[in-house]
This record gives sequence, structure tokens and C-alpha cells, in this order.
Amino acid sequence: MSKIPVGVLGATGMVGQNYISLLNNHPWFQVAYIAASARSAGRTYEQAVKGRWHLRRGYNAETGALIVQDANDVAKAGEAAAKGGLAFVFSALEMDKDEILKLEDSYAAAGIPVVSNASANRWTADVPMLIAEINPHHADIIPLQQKARGWKKGFIAVKPNCSIQSYMTPIWALMQKGYEIKRMVVNTMQAVSGAGYPGVSSLDMIDNIVPYIGGEEEKSELEPLKILGQIKDGKIEQAKEPVISAHCNRVPVTDGHTATVSLEFGAKKPSLDEITAIWRNFRAAPQELGLPMAPDEPIVVRNEQNRPQPSKDRDAHKAMAVTVGRLRPCPVFDVRFAGLSHNTVRGAAGGGILNAELLKAKGYLGL
Ligand code: NAP
Repeated sequence: MSKIPVGVLGATGMVGQNYISLLNNHPWFQVAYIAASARSAGRTYEQAVKGRWHLRRGYNAETGALIVQDANDVAKAGEAAAKGGLAFVFSALEMDKDEILKLEDSYAAAGIPVVSNASANRWTADVPMLIAEINPHHADIIPLQQKARGWKKGFIAVKPNCSIQSYMTPIWALMQKGYEIKRMVVNTMQAVSGAGYPGVSSLDMIDNIVPYIGGEEEKSELEPLKILGQIKDGKIEQAKEPVISAHCNRVPVTDGHTATVSLEFGAKKPSLDEITAIWRNFRAAPQELGLPMAPDEPIVVRNEQNRPQPSKDRDAHKAMAVTVGRLRPCPVFDVRFAGLSHNTVRGAAGGGILNAELLKAKGYLGL
């Protein structure tokens, strides 16, 4: 199979660099189009990221030689697509929300599907917000989205906020087995890389914790309800439960968002042993479809009292697994646990690539 040519919008940023390095030698996708702001446009990728490459992983010479395009120049991307040199784009842009909305719409209208990390389209009612292990069926809204907008080949699919899968995948595994979750309290401890580069000032982060991340608590409380929702009348209708109370903190960790969670079940309550067994045995669409970026074990259960920890657990299964631990009774709700996932891989570029693989497997992406 010849590889599918893909583009990365925002390729020079923190998430964009993760896309570029994770797509090195991808079995299905080949980076063929790179775009960022007008500041980077016209330079080779190597020149554009010189002195601001943030990762230990690198990029290949072919990608380094690509000329960075202006992401606002949709006509240029359209020309590449018309010549068969671009099948879809990953969007990792950081700019004004309304500008991203307009731009992602323009790509989709030009026949170029957009798999996005940006928050701009997360609340667009006919745009699926995918965690491939939880709601792969939400991809079924894509033909309805295309019909409503008059788009032939283009569409928009997004992924949620970077901290959510560290607790939503374990919670979904329990819900899927018939255990309703009524209410939950989640406390997130989020890494500095989640704020992009240069991100939070070092004077705010060294020897410190900041108990506020703008907009993050609202996202943590509401996005899970869309993910758990159902397609109805061409829109995704939100679930009503669980009711979530979130506390989001920025902590001096480079990568890896940790969440401590207390859960209240409905009438049917699983034992701690049942929860552990459900988590260990959990497999979902990415594993069943054999998607290249899928973790073999989506939920890794650690028994040690002092795990998960970001520096030790964030890279589990290609940094795509969620690691859980500290499962124990909760004197206020029913149970409590800690969850961890890599924010710029699983929570950003890796999660986006997995979504694209899912969409390809479902027949929505390709030339
Ligand atoms: P970042 O490091 O600031 O990178 C921003 C990218 O957008 C750069 O490539 C930049 O190009 C480009 N850009 C900025 N202004 C532009 C403009 N006016 N026109 C075109 N391109 C422009 O941001 P990031 O942390 O990678 O985040 C990217 C997106 O992913 C954001 O929407 C963010 O909310 C989302 N996200 C981030 C994380 C995370 O863990 N960091 C997780 C999930 C989602 P230049 O280099 O040329 O300026």
C-alpha cells in the first residue's frame, strides 16, 4: 500500500512537533505538507524549528526539507490536494478560536478533512469529539455533517482536552460493563508542556503549583458529557451524567497529566477486584482493528502504592496507555483512584493520529 500524504497545520509548535516525530515511519501516513504562521512560511521545516525543537525524538531528512506553507493559505493546500499530494490535515494551530473555526471550516469546504487538536470545534454539535476507545461510533455523524454543510469529501473531527483520557477511559471501561456513574470529583495535576511553548513562566512553576488553568475546569466537566452522548437528529446530544466537579492545577512536571478521582456509582456497585479485572481486560476498537498507534493494553493497572507517576509511567505502551493505580474505597463516594496519561502524545498528537487511523479504518480518510 502506498502511504497516504498528510499535512500538519501548526507543525512548528509543541503539538505539531509531536505529530511530525510520531509520524516518522508511520505505516499508513506520510507527512507531505507542513504549515504554520506566516512567520515560519517559506523556510524549510528544519530552518523553521531550528533552536526551538522541544523533543528527544527527531524528524527525518525528507520532512526537514519540506517548505513550510502559511496555514491561512487554504488555496495552496487545495492545489496540493488536487494533485493527489494531500489527503487530509492534522490541525495543531494555536490562534484565536474564531480564526481556527473559520480556517478548519475552509479546509473542510475545500475537500480536505481536518483531524483537529484545537478546542475551537469541540462544541460544534455535528463535529465528533473522539477518544477512539470510547466513542468510535460518533464517527457515524460525519456523513450527516457533510450533508448539512454541503461538503463532499471534507469534514472536521476533533479530540478532547489533553487531561480527559487519563480518567475517562478507565471510567468508560466500568460504564461499558453496566456500572452507572452518578457523580465524580476529579483533581488534575497537569504538566507544563500542556501550555505549549514558552508556556507558563519558570518563576511561576519552579517550587510551585498554580491552582488555576484558564477554561480547563469547564472543559473537564463538560467534554466527557459530549463523548458519552448519542447521535440524534444530526447532532451529538450530551449525556446528563456523571455530574463532574473538577479542580485543575498546573504542576512542575514536563509531560504527563495525572488525575485523582472519586466516583459514586448508581445502585449497582462493583467490588475493587471487579474494577481491577475490568481495567486489565479492557480492549476496544483501536485494539480490535489493529490500529498502528493503539496501545496493546489501553489501561495499565499498577499495584504499587506510589504509582502512577509521570516520570515512570507516562511512556507506557508508546505513551498511548492510561496508567491507573491507588484504587481504594472512598469514604465520601464509593471508590477513588489515580490515573495518568502522556499529554502531548496520548492527549494530543498520538491521540489525533489514533483518531485518524480509526477514521481511515472506517473508510472516511484516503485519497
Ligand atoms: P504552540 O506550541 O504555541 O504552537 C502553535 C502553532 O500554531 C505553531 O505552529 C504556530 O506557528 C502556529 N500559529 C500560531 N499563530 C498562527 C497564525 N496566526 N496562523 C497560522 N499558524 C499560527 O501550541 P501547542 O501547544 O502546540 O498547541 C496547539 C493546539 O493544540 C492548540 O489549539 C492547543 O489548545 C491544542 N492542544 C495542546 C495540547 C498540549 O498538550 N500542548 C494538548 C491538546 C491540545 P509559528 O511557529 O510559525 O508561530
